[in-house]
Amino acid sequence: MKKALKLFLYILLGIILLGTVISYISYSNYWAKDPEAEVDSTYLDYYHESYEDCRNAFVECSLQLAEDFDSVQTGKFYVPSETDNDLTIDWCYIPAQEQKDKLLILTSGLHGIEGYTGSAIQLMFIEKILVPGLPDNMGVLLLHGLNPYGFKYYRKVTENNVDLNRNCVTGNAMFDIKNEGYGKLTGLLMPAKKVNLYNLRNQFFYLVAIYKIIRESMPVLRQAALQGQYDYNKGIYYGGRAYEPQIDTIKPFLIDRIGDYKILLNVDLHTAYGKRGKMHLFLDKPDDADVLRGIEKVFKGVQIDWGSSDDFYTINGEYIGWANSLVPDVLCLPMLFEFGTMDSQETFGSLKSIQVMINENQGVHYGYKNRKNEIKTKYLFNEMYYPSSLVWRSKAISDAYKMMTEMMGNYERISFD
Ligand SMILES: [Zn+2]
Repeated sequence: MKKALKLFLYILLGIILLGTVISYISYSNYWAKDPEAEVDSTYLDYYHESYEDCRNAFVECSLQLAEDFDSVQTGKFYVPSETDNDLTIDWCYIPAQEQKDKLLILTSGLHGIEGYTGSAIQLMFIEKILVPGLPDNMGVLLLHGLNPYGFKYYRKVTENNVDLNRNCVTGNAMFDIKNEGYGKLTGLLMPAKKVNLYNLRNQFFYLVAIYKIIRESMPVLRQAALQGQYDYNKGIYYGGRAYEPQIDTIKPFLIDRIGDYKILLNVDLHTAYGKRGKMHLFLDKPDDADVLRGIEKVFKGVQIDWGSSDDFYTINGEYIGWANSLVPDVLCLPMLFEFGTMDSQETFGSLKSIQVMINENQGVHYGYKNRKNEIKTKYLFNEMYYPSSLVWRSKAISDAYKMMTEMMGNYERISFD
């Protein structure tokens, strides 16, 4: 009997060990795979490899628009910095050529590094959709690189470590919101030491995370990590203690433009969230029935990922909600385009995403154990937000082209009943 029990225990131990080894190997080697897709080299031409090159291409393209349309305005806002006096948000506004009914705003680089893809999509949009067919009653405002610091220096956040998509609160009191759950997870989310990708913590990150998931439940963790927090300025998803300078700067500018129209379609371009190589429409479900109806018309027949509807978590300080609240009389339809890179809807993908984010943030604040750790940490971060895969890049443009063609047609047909 004793022998049988012993054998049973050995087998159990063996299974646990084997399970740990298998999951360790699969997690360590895990990276989402590209879908099968052809590379269209003409699409790759829209991409540029530095912030300055992206900006130059955008400015050049904007100036060209003045030849195609009347009264085109272009300009830039400087974003103040302690280290760099050449950070700008560049914009181009094509007013509706006749009746000012509808406005489209298309923004890139709210999350700095995501601007490389966002910029490419803006260039494609101008050349392939805007120039050939802008309706007379529609105006277009393009804002390039809302977070130029992050864009230029390959970070998601601003120079102040602020995630602009948590900074756009609708009232100063919101900077005092406490995220209790985040406080309990600081050991996991913001380790205060040099990055070492090869230590136990990183090697077994998924086990630690799974242990926390079992202890706290996934919705609690998701809420804690994603809601945004206003207490830890060296943490991830930090929303700041006040508006970042560019948010204050663009506010009156947006109000002026939006206020001239009856309806606004506000599209913000992002990367990373979702299935790799797939374009997602991502939004918190709007409470306003007219807004919901408008969105469903503009994106007719397309699956929309209603972000927080199933899991009941809330995100504070989102840019698109803030921008759409600026002019209450105008019907504002928001939408996020997300170009997935990490299969973040899967457990491994979501854990890897957060690990990559934590390590990059930790490296910025506390440094790296050595150069090898720095190179690998930055490499993984860049691959997560701006994949080097040509298949991925080509497909992002191709998907955006199809979606935006449909979107513009549907938006043109929308009526005001
Ligand atoms: Zn983003």
